[in-house]
Amino acid sequence: MSTATASPLTDPLAGDGSAETGLGAALSTALDGAHHRRRVAGRAAFPADGMLRDPALGLAEARVWTLRRLGEFVAAGFGQSIVPVERATPETQLQSLIDFETITYGDQSVAIKSGVQHGLFGGAIAGLGTAAQHERFLTDALQLRILGCFAMTERGHGSDVASLETTISYDADAGEFVVHSPHESSAKTYIGNAAADGHLATVFGQLIVDGVNQGVHCILVPLRDADGATLPGVTIGDNGHKGGLLGVDNGWIRFDHVRVPRDMLLDRFGSVRADGSYSSTIDNPNRRFFSMLGALVRGRICIGGGAAIAARVALSIATRYGERRTQFRHPHSDEESPLLDYLAHQRKLLPAIARAYALGFAQNELIDDYGRVSSDAAHDPRDQRALETLAAGLKALNTEFANATIQTCREACGGAGYMSENRLTQLRADTDVFATFEGDNTVLLQLVAKGVLTDYRDVWGGLDRLGLVQASARLVGGAVIERTGAGLLAERLVATARRKGDATAFYDRGWHAWMFEERERHSVDSLARRLRAADRDSFEQVNAMQD
Ligand SMILES: Cc1cc2nc3c(=O)[nH]c(=O)nc-3n(C[C@H](O)[C@H](O)[C@H](O)COP(=O)(O)OP(=O)(O)OC[C@H]3O[C@@H](n4cnc5c(N)ncnc54)[C@H](O)[C@@H]3O)c2cc1C
Repeated sequence: MSTATASPLTDPLAGDGSAETGLGAALSTALDGAHHRRRVAGRAAFPADGMLRDPALGLAEARVWTLRRLGEFVAAGFGQSIVPVERATPETQLQSLIDFETITYGDQSVAIKSGVQHGLFGGAIAGLGTAAQHERFLTDALQLRILGCFAMTERGHGSDVASLETTISYDADAGEFVVHSPHESSAKTYIGNAAADGHLATVFGQLIVDGVNQGVHCILVPLRDADGATLPGVTIGDNGHKGGLLGVDNGWIRFDHVRVPRDMLLDRFGSVRADGSYSSTIDNPNRRFFSMLGALVRGRICIGGGAAIAARVALSIATRYGERRTQFRHPHSDEESPLLDYLAHQRKLLPAIARAYALGFAQNELIDDYGRVSSDAAHDPRDQRALETLAAGLKALNTEFANATIQTCREACGGAGYMSENRLTQLRADTDVFATFEGDNTVLLQLVAKGVLTDYRDVWGGLDRLGLVQASARLVGGAVIERTGAGLLAERLVATARRKGDATAFYDRGWHAWMFEERERHSVDSLARRLRAADRDSFEQVNAMQD
């Protein structure tokens, strides 16, 4: 066999893509979409080749390297785009997503360390706290002067956040909250920044006021003193070696009646007065819970976007390798054939490249929606629900795609793909867990189904007989496109496709858009029909629909 192209593989990350000409530049610009300038600026300021971790670093060294590298980025101005809700504009919201995207081109541990510190810890303060708390903690969090954790998951409950067991009980006599882990299963676990670096944590638990459980809320709890020693009542352990992301120090935390002042409750959605009375602008506890989680949707969008970039990096490495690597002499010449001349090799990579573009365009729509909805205090709750549904669905699709694609790319590079210096094995190991954190993919897809069915009920459920007939007529007339938010472009495409004959329509983008719409409508219709026929309180019947 020829060994014409030896590892290391061609580094696909040289430059930011803006120096490319012709088709490459046009594709890069198209993929960046409306945020091309912002993205080019980000990649130029924090180039990926400046942030690759030596894969041979052990656990302790990787953690030290990751924190140091993140510190250098922050000193150079990175990660300051998380702003409190009252100061949010579409630009600030978009910038916070693009900041995260930018560093996912490099080492995923640095990206996730920033995700924990800026996105989750900073994001919880910004999204769940009030102005005084923003003033007191946010800048220090973004500048890494206070390293923090986002402590939601417990040993007993990960996906089922509503069932967390940690308690946050108000002691009216002392004017303090008491944070407690009542059982072994209520210990927080897998918490980023917990094992070594975190000094303060945003802790999620059941808020108990005057004996009444007000549901899951979030409170700031100090973990360590200035010397790094754990504070009284706090026990911390190290989750140890993981399947990837070695630079992030994940750990577990238990609280034994830890007392915290009243003003540490992040109380944008629910507060406790000194006299022990609870108040919230949202009366319905269920709606309050989902509003609180909704305020944290950015993390999910970031993880989907980060996975998409990891997949694109892998595809870029494998495609460039496929162009240069040759195997087997061509029967009609003395030359060996490049891998990409083999159709089997093309079939591995080209559909994945097409899908990467499609997911990239979808992610662009999502981040625009996020910028618009999250910066508008008076947004329509239906827009928020649509945003959360899209974020959940795209996070699941992007991360699933990334995991499958990185493995394909690894194999497409043969033995060279297995050498750590060529990045693919580390990318694969680090990106794997993106399918689990920020919402397990299966559970997220169930959320999507729930969101779509709720929309369906809103459209159809409230209609009387005449309304149903009119709505059906509108549906047949093309209103289905509006319903799913596919927008004016798709509507125009469909209209054009309909004017064409059957033979040409088959090749028309509008026809394809129409078929996707039809497929969605058909799936939702039949699912809704099955649900209507089922007993919704029957676990078995609802469960059977997931099969
Ligand atoms: C490296 C790493 C870092 C993390 N960092 C943090 C952090 O900083 N802060 C934090 O709070 N958490 C963190 N987590 C926790 C993470 O968010 C959870 O692991 C995740 O939410 C899944 O919860 P779980 O592990 O309990 O899995 P489970 O919820 O127990 O899920 C296990 C399996 O059961 C399936 N399943 C669950 N429910 C259903 C259902 N209703 N129907 C069908 N299937 C179902 C899931 O699909 C999955 O396959 C981290 C985790 C890891 C691994």
